[in-house]
Amino acid sequence: MNWTITPADLAFFAKELDSFLPQRVFDAHCHLYRNADFATVPGLAASGPDVVDWPCFLEHMEAIAPGRKWEALAFPFPSKGLNTVGANEFLGAQVQAYPAVRGQMVVTPDMDPEFVRETVRRFGFVGLKCYHLFSPVEPTFDSAVEAYLPEEHVRVAHEEGLSITLHMVRARAIADPVNQESIARLARKYPNSRWILAHAARGFNPYHTIEGIGALAGIGNIWSDTSAVTEAGAFEAIVRTHGVERLLYGADFPVTHLRGRCVAIGDSFLWLTADNTQFAAAYAPIEPLLIFLESLRALKTACWNLRLSDSDVERIFWGNAAQLFEK
Ligand SMILES: [Zn+2]
Repeated sequence: MNWTITPADLAFFAKELDSFLPQRVFDAHCHLYRNADFATVPGLAASGPDVVDWPCFLEHMEAIAPGRKWEALAFPFPSKGLNTVGANEFLGAQVQAYPAVRGQMVVTPDMDPEFVRETVRRFGFVGLKCYHLFSPVEPTFDSAVEAYLPEEHVRVAHEEGLSITLHMVRARAIADPVNQESIARLARKYPNSRWILAHAARGFNPYHTIEGIGALAGIGNIWSDTSAVTEAGAFEAIVRTHGVERLLYGADFPVTHLRGRCVAIGDSFLWLTADNTQFAAAYAPIEPLLIFLESLRALKTACWNLRLSDSDVERIFWGNAAQLFEK
């Protein structure tokens, strides 16, 4: 069911989203990778192509959202035991071959900061991608930011003018004071680093972002991406608190092609997919859609609730990222 597009997906896109999605789209959260670089291939990657390069991205997005012009901020698919050298080399080749692709180097906390600087320069990367799975803290989901993004890497980002895509962890994400303090401190101390808080500040439970995003208000080098979030509340909180110029559309390819939805439940969240959920009910047939469609619907709802203009919407899908990554 993942990686395939059904007639129901296409009909939903045509009816609900075709008139909302602008013609030019910058995906600020795009994974390009080779399965050969994984120690253990993640489930979603295992069920898809072995080489996910830029043409592969374009082919899969064209199939569900025809006629759009895409650019992207791409990075490897972080995974425990990843061959980071191979993954960064592959990404570097994509950046070289396709002007539409900007790259973020995958970094692990054990990397020497000068190695990070050299690698970024060698491949022309524009940023860094850190991830909790590389943290030495167990369980890695409890890690503070500094455990998987050492301050020395942030210093290099500041000196080189790099973006940093941060998928924060800890149960309450940006509602957690430890995360708030880390991000506020590092972003203020290194003002030339550009922070992109992935998944609407990991607002898979939107109430966490609604509660916590105000802690970062007024810091000039923080953005958030919309990737793989399928509820509207976190997008709304970000725009209200940081302004419409701080929200970047992110598709999170290939999570775009996962079927299901992520929902807030209690003080946490749950990904509903066919693996853990029986999509059946007495009252109606339940046909889950691709995450790409669910996330776009949530963003459309947020834009509607915020009464955004067409030019505001175009900023989220293109203008904000174009400004951030001007070549
Ligand atoms: Zn992602």
